[in-house]
Amino acid sequence: MILPKSNRLSPEQVAEITAVVAEFGCRIQPIVGAVRTIYAIVGDERDDLMINRLEGLDYVERIDRIQSPFKLMDKRSDLASHRITLGGVTLGERLLVIAGPCTIDPKNPNYFYETAAAVKEAGANVIRGGVWKPRTNPYSFQGDTKSLEILIEGSRRTGLPVDTEVMEEAHIQLALDAGVSCLQVGARNALNYSLLRAIGRAVAQRPTAVLLKRSIHMGPVNEFISAAEYIAAFGNPNIILCPRGTTPTLDGYRNHPDESITPLLKEKTWAPVVVDPSHSVGKATYVPAAALAAVAYGADGLCLEAHVSPNHGIGDDPKQALTPEALRQVIRQARQLWELRRS
Ligand code: PEP
Ligand code: MN
Repeated sequence: MILPKSNRLSPEQVAEITAVVAEFGCRIQPIVGAVRTIYAIVGDERDDLMINRLEGLDYVERIDRIQSPFKLMDKRSDLASHRITLGGVTLGERLLVIAGPCTIDPKNPNYFYETAAAVKEAGANVIRGGVWKPRTNPYSFQGDTKSLEILIEGSRRTGLPVDTEVMEEAHIQLALDAGVSCLQVGARNALNYSLLRAIGRAVAQRPTAVLLKRSIHMGPVNEFISAAEYIAAFGNPNIILCPRGTTPTLDGYRNHPDESITPLLKEKTWAPVVVDPSHSVGKATYVPAAALAAVAYGADGLCLEAHVSPNHGIGDDPKQALTPEALRQVIRQARQLWELRRS
C-alpha cells in the first residue's frame, strides 16, 4: 500500500508508480477515500527492490507492507479507518437494518410496495427484494428481470435505498444502471471468483455497497475475508460481510446459525458484519432470537426477510418472512441491545 504525502497523486505520479510496480509484475489500484486516495499494490509486493524504489520517490510518505492474504480487508490495513454508509447509517455508529421480501412477485407488485412501506415504518434503513433468485430446484420460480422496475419503484415510493442479489455478470450492470445501492452476492456465488471480480470491476469508483453472504462451503474467517478481498482489489472497499448460516444444519433449523463467527471476523478484518438470521434459522418464529444473538455477538446490522402477508409471498417468504409487527419488535429490541452492548 502506497501512502502519498498529498491527498492524491497527480496523473504523472500515478504513471510513475505504475511503471515501477509493473517491472515487478504488479499493478496499482487507487482506493479513493472521502479525503485521501491511497494506492494498493496488487500482486506479489514482497520484492525489496520494488519497495526501495517506491520509498525513494519524494511524493511517497511511506509504504505499508502487510503480510496478510487480504491486504485491503485486513484490520491492519490503512483502510481500517474506512467507514461505509448505507441507507443513512454509517456502519459501526448505528445498527443497520436491511429488510424486505425474499423474492419480489412480479405478478403482484403491490405486495412489494406495501412491504416496502411497512419495512420503512418498522424502522429499516434499506429495503431488500430478490429480483433474480438462486433456487435449489430448476422448476421453482427463478425471478424475473421485470421485478427490477418494481424494486426501484419501491425505493422511489419510500425514499429508501435497495439491495438485490446479482447472480451473473449480466445482472450487475442492469442493477447498477437501475440505481440499486447495494449488490448482494448470495451464499451460492460467494466462491464464484469470476463473478466477484466482475462485481469489483463494476463497482470501482462508485459509492455502491456489496453485501457478501458467507458460502456454506467457506471456512468462517480466512476464505470469507479473501472473497471480500477479490472485490476490494478493484478499488471499492464498501464491502459488508454477511453470515447467513452454514452446514451441517442444526437439527430443526434450516442451517447452522453462524452469528458467533462475528468476533472472529472482527479480530482479522475491519469490514462490518451484517448477519442474516432469516436464512440461518429458516423459520419466522425462530428469527427474533437469532437476530438478538447476532447483535449480542457484535453484529453491525441485520438482514431480515419480511413481508406484509408472508403466506402470499413466494420463495422463502411463507416460511421465513417476519410480519411487519414482528419486524418492528425485532428492530426495536435489536437497537436497544445494540445500545446496551456499546454502554
Ligand atoms: C436471499 O437472500 O434470499 C438468499 C437467497 O440468500 P442466500 O444466498 O444466503 O441463500
Ligand atoms: Mn430468501
